[in-house]
Amino acid sequence: MQIGHDAIIIGGGFYGAAIAVYLVRQRGLKRVVLIEREPALMTRASYNNQARVHNGYHYPRSFTTAYRSRINLPKFVQEWPTAVKQDFTKLYAIARRNSKVTAKQFERFCRDIGADIRVADPALRGLFEPRLIEKIYVVKEYVFDATKLARLAEQELRQAGVQLIYDTSVTAVSKGVDIPLQVALHNKQGVQELLTSQFVFNCTYSGLNQLSGDFSGVCSGLKQEITEMALMQMPESLCGLGVTVMDGPFFSLMPFPSCGLHTLSHVRYTPHMHWSDQRGIDPYEKLRGYHKETRVDRMVRDAARYMPELLKAEYKESLFEVKTILNKNESDDGRPILFEKHMDLPGCYSVLGGKIDNIYDVLEKLDEVI
Ligand SMILES: Cc1cc2nc3c(=O)[nH]c(=O)nc-3n(C[C@H](O)[C@H](O)[C@H](O)COP(=O)(O)OP(=O)(O)OC[C@H]3O[C@@H](n4cnc5c(N)ncnc54)[C@H](O)[C@@H]3O)c2cc1C
Repeated sequence: MQIGHDAIIIGGGFYGAAIAVYLVRQRGLKRVVLIEREPALMTRASYNNQARVHNGYHYPRSFTTAYRSRINLPKFVQEWPTAVKQDFTKLYAIARRNSKVTAKQFERFCRDIGADIRVADPALRGLFEPRLIEKIYVVKEYVFDATKLARLAEQELRQAGVQLIYDTSVTAVSKGVDIPLQVALHNKQGVQELLTSQFVFNCTYSGLNQLSGDFSGVCSGLKQEITEMALMQMPESLCGLGVTVMDGPFFSLMPFPSCGLHTLSHVRYTPHMHWSDQRGIDPYEKLRGYHKETRVDRMVRDAARYMPELLKAEYKESLFEVKTILNKNESDDGRPILFEKHMDLPGCYSVLGGKIDNIYDVLEKLDEVI
């Protein structure tokens, strides 16, 4: 039995990686190990997402989330500049019907959170169907390149001396004897091992509740959703654009720098199915067993009513992933973090970041506990 890590990080998504580096660099921990069940970092939700670096605009119904995005975006851009793509035009369009905000309300909201908007010029307006779209704004919103981010994160981890263990699942977290926490691992060759540590950070996103031992799960209710985003080759006219139609059952179109395509998501068709998270229903298994039939035809048909040029886009493939959200944010669409201390396992914390830039809210919490 190996002994005595300062911290064990479960999950090598962006959150696990960033937390591990922070613990070494800023909190002075020495023996930090990160355990990831996949063969590499950031292959799950941290890759299979819309890559938007939020700047507030998306959350007119959740002022706190919008406001925190405004604070976190500059930090993210400063820390990962080469992984952020800024050289495209980002448009927010307000739908005339079925939108939960009007153009006037959206303008007021942007003023309140201090976010820049400018009314789009006629050439950009010409891309939209005026009978369905009330107003179009050019905004400042970026995307990240998940492949570059993963490469940079891995470099940082290695330079910080974090031990990386891939292809290995954590199955249980329990109370230890001399050292507070004991973590059971199981690798792909079937070898099992126990590690001990002062601190354990459960950064497994969809897998947060799937650990056994003395781990009793998180108190906050979670909703799991199987989601689909279509990867599309845009026609010339849409190549340099990102578009979000607000605020209801509409769509978003964003550059996806990792593979030079665009993602297309649709509020109505991106979520395929959902369930209430509970231990024993492994979201990764559920996704593996799910019959992944694309709904891109429906996404394009509806989105093209608003932007006819979309009919010229060429479908390549889809990214399917489980999205995990807090039940409490079902109605306001907010994306706060979950940072839960497990009272029955002192030193053990579960972390869920609703979006990439929320990492800075998590790091603030770490300062309070270590
Ligand atoms: C469809 C969709 C669109 C999204 N769009 C955006 C967006 O545009 N902008 C944005 O900021 N956010 C977006 N998000 C949210 C964003 O993807 C997540 O907030 C973020 O990726 C969470 O990072 P993470 O490290 O917690 O999760 P992950 O990247 O999923 O990392 C968790 C890791 O834990 C590993 N793991 C799980 N269980 C175990 C175990 N038992 N043992 C070892 N390893 C384990 C997994 O393999 C995984 O690599 C979107 C999410 C989805 C699904």
